[in-house]
Order: sequence, then structure tokens, then C-alpha cells
Amino acid sequence: MTDTTSDEGFLLAVLNSTPVIGGVQADEFDDTARARVRLASAGGLGTEVELRHVREIRPLLQAVVRGELSPDVLAPALRGVTRVPAMTGGQITWTLSVPPERELAVRAVLAWHELARNNPGRLRPCANDECRLFLIDHSKANAARWCSMAVCGNRMKARRHYQRIRTS
Ligand SMILES: [Zn+2]
Repeated sequence: MTDTTSDEGFLLAVLNSTPVIGGVQADEFDDTARARVRLASAGGLGTEVELRHVREIRPLLQAVVRGELSPDVLAPALRGVTRVPAMTGGQITWTLSVPPERELAVRAVLAWHELARNNPGRLRPCANDECRLFLIDHSKANAARWCSMAVCGNRMKARRHYQRIRTS
């Protein structure tokens, strides 16, 4: 799994928690016990209610990143959320104020927005149409197409090679 200690890493882990394995969409959160451990290690509570909130936001975030739904579908997840400023050492820091069991889902939405605003297009679906995973491209060239070069990159290259042989 990707680094989930950052909100961006957590967002990507949530987006990528429904991989297609052997043509069938799996859900890594089906194993509730394991899913709760993962949420706890991402800084969450690891409760069932928290998991439910994350699972509710996941298909919406996936559809928004794919451009299938308007970001407005994320609005209900942000209802009642505020940020509270505090002054320490001459610096203002902002703390999220949200019921604890909703915090991870909210952080995923905020991480999506940060990316969309500061690095538009960097978070995108894998170019392998049989793959349902996403990638965040931090490279200068911004030319990454695959969730993983080792898996999808090579698979797509092999497929194109095979098609070339067949058509020639
Ligand atoms: Zn892929």
C-alpha cells in the first residue's frame, strides 16, 4: 500500500482500494478488521462508523476524478466542517473541526481539492482501461500514464506489441 501518513497518500489508497483482479472488481475494505487497521494507521479512529464514511465517499471521489460526476457530489461530506485557527509562536495554524468519525473522509475530500487546485490533472486514472486504479504524477514531465509501470505499463506495451504483430 502507498504511504497513508499524508492526506494525499491516504486519498490515493482509498481511490485504489477497489482494484480489478482477474476481471472482477475487488474491495479491499470488505475485510472490515483489516480495513479498520488501515484507517487507524492513516491517523483515523479505526471504527466501523469511520469506515462507513470512507466507503461512502470513495465511489464519489473515484467518479469525480474520472470526470463522471461533478465535484458538487462531495458537498454533503463537508457539511458542518470548519477550520479553527490558533496562534502559536506568531504563526497561525488551522485545525480541522469535524466529528472524529468523519475526519478521514473529510481529509480525503480536502486532499482531492488541494491536488485539483494546486496540481490540476496530476491525479488521474490509469491509462490501462482494464485497470481501475489511479495515479498521482509528481514527475516534472507529467507524462506518467500507468498506476504502475511494472504492472500496467508492461502489460499495455506487450498488448500493443502483440497487436502490431497480428495486424502486420
Ligand atoms: Zn493500472
